[in-house]
Amino acid sequence: KSGFVAIVGRPNVGKSTFLNRVIGQKIAIMSDKAQTTRNKIQGVYTTDDSQIVFLDTPGVQKPKSKLGSFMEESAMSALKDIDAVLFMVSAVEKRGAGDNFIINRLKTVQKPIYLVINKIDQVHPNDLLPIMDTYKKALDWAGVFPISALQGNNVDELLADLTNHL
Ligand code: GDP
Ligand code: MG
Repeated sequence: KSGFVAIVGRPNVGKSTFLNRVIGQKIAIMSDKAQTTRNKIQGVYTTDDSQIVFLDTPGVQKPKSKLGSFMEESAMSALKDIDAVLFMVSAVEKRGAGDNFIINRLKTVQKPIYLVINKIDQVHPNDLLPIMDTYKKALDWAGVFPISALQGNNVDELLADLTNHL
């Protein structure tokens, strides 16, 4: 099984930390595919029987400039080519404007979208459920995974579920 997965989320939620944990190699072999002209490949997760190419999709985040806003449309059309989306949020911060901006963009994406609540090592288990509730109905999630990208909690489970959707 293989596929392209976009990872989106506001700054500092832990996207890079997650990718650093799961990615084993940079990809060169697929560089002639259409994907690489629109989305930046961040890395590839490989097992014996599966491969997930993680993509950065600039423009899904809240634009910092007019140029960013102009580019947003092409970013959203680029999302149509991917197989699944990981939407990452932080368990230690309240749902905010940056999160809402991305949620609104994702509403038109007809692909499995996972809610990944990162940094659970920083919150008491009792406090996790209320955070989850603030996102639960925002989109029709393919899965909801509380994780710690830093410590690795639940990351393998997320990758296994993701692989099954490809
Ligand atoms: P990005 O902007 O979404 O790529 O976020 P980064 O991966 O750069 O992480 C931002 C900060 O959050 C860094 O200081 C990370 O060490 C920290 N961080 C990321 N994941 C976790 C986590 O699961 N737990 C904790 N405690 N900190 C994390
Ligand atoms: Mg980053």
